[in-house]
Amino acid sequence: AAVKKEVLEKAREMGVKFIRLQFTDIFGVLKNVAITVEQLEKALDGELMFDGSSIHGFTRIEESDMYLRPDPSTFAVFPWRPREGAVARLICDVYNPDGTPFEGCPRYALKKVLAEAREMGYTMNVGPECEFFLFHVDKDGNPTTHTHDQAGYFDMTPIDMGENARRFMVLTLEEMGFEIEASHHEVAPGQHEIDFKYSEALDVADKIMTFKFVVRTIAQRHGLHATFMPKPIFGINGSGMHMNQSLFTLDGENAFYDPSTPDQLSETAKYYIGGLIKHARAFAALTNSSVNSYKRLVPGYEAPCYVAWSLANRSCLIRIPAKRGMSTRVELRNPDPACNPYLAIAAALKAGLDGIKNKIAPPAPTESNIYHMDAAQRSAEGIVSLPASLHEAVMELQANPVISSVLGDHILSRFVEGKMEEWDEFRTTVHEWEIKKYLTMY
Ligand code: ADP
Ligand code: MG
Ligand code: MG
Ligand code: MG
Ligand code: MG
Repeated sequence: AAVKKEVLEKAREMGVKFIRLQFTDIFGVLKNVAITVEQLEKALDGELMFDGSSIHGFTRIEESDMYLRPDPSTFAVFPWRPREGAVARLICDVYNPDGTPFEGCPRYALKKVLAEAREMGYTMNVGPECEFFLFHVDKDGNPTTHTHDQAGYFDMTPIDMGENARRFMVLTLEEMGFEIEASHHEVAPGQHEIDFKYSEALDVADKIMTFKFVVRTIAQRHGLHATFMPKPIFGINGSGMHMNQSLFTLDGENAFYDPSTPDQLSETAKYYIGGLIKHARAFAALTNSSVNSYKRLVPGYEAPCYVAWSLANRSCLIRIPAKRGMSTRVELRNPDPACNPYLAIAAALKAGLDGIKNKIAPPAPTESNIYHMDAAQRSAEGIVSLPASLHEAVMELQANPVISSVLGDHILSRFVEGKMEEWDEFRTTVHEWEIKKYLTMY
């Protein structure tokens, strides 16, 4: 109740007139309903209803009434809107009319796995590295895949508009409570990365949704289009979202750190890695959830395509960065920023917990560059590939009861149905590549 009072007070102090109640659908799209400040108290009591039947993958018409319950800790004012008649947002959980949590709410799916971790004595920390492209818009305001920017990794490019936009993105995110650790130009022209400090998994999933929304908004205000599409241009690096993760014990110690072992990784960390390796092919559908995701996961662009781990090697699915102590972490390198962060984090955590519960030892680390191995060498080392397509990934998800259970029947069936439709649409479309290849050949 105290928190509710705080939100009401803050809203009054900051002259907030409109509040956007936000939630994320199954496919990772941010949705929102705007209310006026007069409705805020009612909203905080969870009394605001909306029609869930028009939300993709949510419900059938006959079970359409849903309640939004705002999480008061997520109150934030949009710094780019006017001070007078300010706009704020609250991130919400979705509930059924009978007061039970809605099974189709991705935030709820993550909360369930976090509760399981807590029962085992852990909290989960996640630090995402979100990459994106800034492209020009044409004279009609439509996004293109063009950039004037010719810079590369860590370059300084005072002539590019993107640099200026990125500065505003960082300042805006800071005003909204993000602790930005670094921001830099990425490998490809027009490509950027902004890193914020790791925190507890649910908070980070919320922050990833906010991050994408803020980056798009600020880009637009600079006449640019920001895209989190994983591979917008063939032949150059795609955008990933490396997921750094660690488990802390309930008294705040890093459970992955053990100074007494040769590599200073605990047994818990090893089993967690074992679980990630075991279930990687099944959680790919959630960390890499679009047709386009699989155009990024190809050899030669620092994106992983093989299921292996290493202490340094950036061609592996999992890398263990050198830092130890509180920074001891597992870096999962396949996720891309188009994923639903609630489901992607939930799936990775579930895989890791399964590893701990069942003491799944990981294979030996792979210290040579897998891109340079041939199929025979990989198979001799027992290294399998990630799924090569969305279709293969969805099949793997369905066949894996541990990862499927993260979603529950409701999300699983809607997700599979939606992704199969997406796949079929892609499969039956005649693409430019086919015209170029076959039109004159046959
Ligand atoms: P890279 O070397 O792969 O480019 P970055 O420095 O860009 O890595 O990002 C590292 C991320 O890992 C940051 O978000 C950071 O906050 C996060 N991180 C640091 N320690 C932990 C930890 N114990 N658990 C999870 N994430 C962590
Ligand atoms: Mg980085
Ligand atoms: Mg870095
Ligand atoms: Mg990067
Ligand atoms: Mg990284």
